[in-house]
Amino acid sequence: MTDTTQAPLRAGVIGVGHLGKIHARLWGQTSGAALAGVYDTDPARAEEIARENGTTAYRSLPELLGAVQAVSIVTPTSTHAGIATQAIEAGVHCFIEKPITAHYAEATALDTLAHSKGITVQVGHVERFNAALLAVAGMAGEPQFIESHRLSQFSPRALDVSVIHDLMIHDIDLTLWLVKSPVTEIRASGVGVLSDSIDIANARLEFANGCVANLTASRISQRSMRKMRMFGRDSYISLDFAAPSAEVFRISDGAAGAGTDAVAGETLLGGIEYGALKKAIHYQKLPTPQVNAIALELHEFVSAIEHGTVPPVTAAAAAEALRIAGQIFSLCNHAG
Ligand code: NAD
Repeated sequence: MTDTTQAPLRAGVIGVGHLGKIHARLWGQTSGAALAGVYDTDPARAEEIARENGTTAYRSLPELLGAVQAVSIVTPTSTHAGIATQAIEAGVHCFIEKPITAHYAEATALDTLAHSKGITVQVGHVERFNAALLAVAGMAGEPQFIESHRLSQFSPRALDVSVIHDLMIHDIDLTLWLVKSPVTEIRASGVGVLSDSIDIANARLEFANGCVANLTASRISQRSMRKMRMFGRDSYISLDFAAPSAEVFRISDGAAGAGTDAVAGETLLGGIEYGALKKAIHYQKLPTPQVNAIALELHEFVSAIEHGTVPPVTAAAAAEALRIAGQIFSLCNHAG
């Protein structure tokens, strides 16, 4: 709970383009914090967003850093490392949009620097806060097979990185977080179609615990899709991050029918009987919480700073997702 006697955390936003504009608005609504200023290399844009939010547009990065205690870094990915380094050196806590940096070595260097200075760094892997995922909290168990599709239409934004670093990284982060086992093998292929980098990619990750994840991402699709399916020993979970919606199919022992072991909210879909094998199939569409995922991640960031606790998406976790993304990228570039 936020201590109301404490002065609100002074927060700033660096880069107020498409997503930074949303951060600026949400900082103004975050309990325990207040928007204290914005900075953008495009001064007209900074002025516009500052006016909309009743705050100050700073003319330089050092000026903003001198006026705040925490920042959202929402600039193009290639600039994250340099800006975050300056912020950490200035003693400012950093919420860095995903991917944490363009290169793995930059991410680990930031992590080390932040620890040495006692600075909180959280990374914007926002799907961790998606209502579909929150709905199945604790139900995923130990997935044995994961399949994800993250497809979007072409847009000229974020072309400074590949589709692996821009879109697939969400599913890489979620998969690493869900599976909690080291990656032992990666196979991947991808192609560049409209940009100079990879626009569509598929990766197959194998984990030490036997789980396999098949991830597909595209930024040149005709329609958008953000889905993940997880298969476990006794369950199948289907998530739609865009809807958002969450469905669970569960298998229980014994013939389907009266007295079948069912959980509240489940519907008995049917059964499978084959010789001695008797299984019942249960279905549940879970209620999804009404949450703004970005507001929630900023709230968690403030809480981690306030209580000196580990934030939900650490620089180390984001660096690991980036390391795997880098390996997928190299395999795509060397395929064929
Ligand atoms: P954008 O191009 O719309 O906005 C970037 C802004 O940063 C622009 O206003 C630009 O003028 C400004 N800028 C550029 N260099 C700067 C610098 N050195 N200092 C200060 N300002 C600078 O980009 P966007 O779509 O908002 O993406 C920004 C970041 O957010 C990227 O890292 C992207 O990967 C990330 N992002 C994350 C998600 C998500 O799902 N979490 C979604 C979209 C974007």
